Amino acid sequence: MSPPSLAMRAERWMALRAHRRLLPLVGHTGIVSFSFDDAPQSACQTGAAVLEKHHCHGTWYVAGALTDKMDLGHMSHSVRDICNLRDSGHQIGCHTYSHTPCAGMSLIQLNAEFQRNDEFLEQCGVTDRPLHFSFPLGAFDLRSKLHAGRRFASCRITGGGIQTGYADLNALKTERLYDSVMSAATLQSLVCTNAEKKGWLIFYSHDVEREPSKWGCTPHLLESAVQMSLAAGCKVLPIDQAIDYWRSV
Ligand SMILES: [Zn+2]
Repeated sequence: MSPPSLAMRAERWMALRAHRRLLPLVGHTGIVSFSFDDAPQSACQTGAAVLEKHHCHGTWYVAGALTDKMDLGHMSHSVRDICNLRDSGHQIGCHTYSHTPCAGMSLIQLNAEFQRNDEFLEQCGVTDRPLHFSFPLGAFDLRSKLHAGRRFASCRITGGGIQTGYADLNALKTERLYDSVMSAATLQSLVCTNAEKKGWLIFYSHDVEREPSKWGCTPHLLESAVQMSLAAGCKVLPIDQAIDYWRSV
């Protein structure tokens, strides 16, 4: 994929600051959320098991067209994986149907993507509405941010770091939980800063394997992040429950 043009980066810069839906983050504790884009099979199985070992839940953003397919060199989820996550109390979100970047899409295209995936997830027994969403490849513009923000309970982007003071529900910020970029020292620093500032730290990753892709993590890194978060006094909650927490306080 070619790097974004100057015009695309300028529109993203503007879109980040426009069409905001602010959620105050004033709580008694920091929150850490773990999310997995594309829902590779290893994230659905190994990733979920790591979270469950510590009595925690996460959020998987699913694009229906990836079901039973290879994605980034790794096997993607099956319908059974989605059902198992749902039955185990994890959150399932939308990631468009065909995993197409939303920046530059027309309203008709966006609607078709959202509707088709909505129907796919309903067939998997995911019935909670409105759904939560993450932009494929973190790509959004003014139109897609506004439109997705009106449809979904929250929209997650890529990058941006820890959120303190408030979060924009139409563009929730994240940190990458990738072995290729995350050192133990950086992880510790992020979690401790989040705990001190009582912020909301949302991690995202893809596959969870002993030899992950450069967009994934090992079970060891995921477990370290969960253990550090709990040890620092943070709550570990999926995206929907985190929003409920911030609203309740
Ligand atoms: Zn994705």
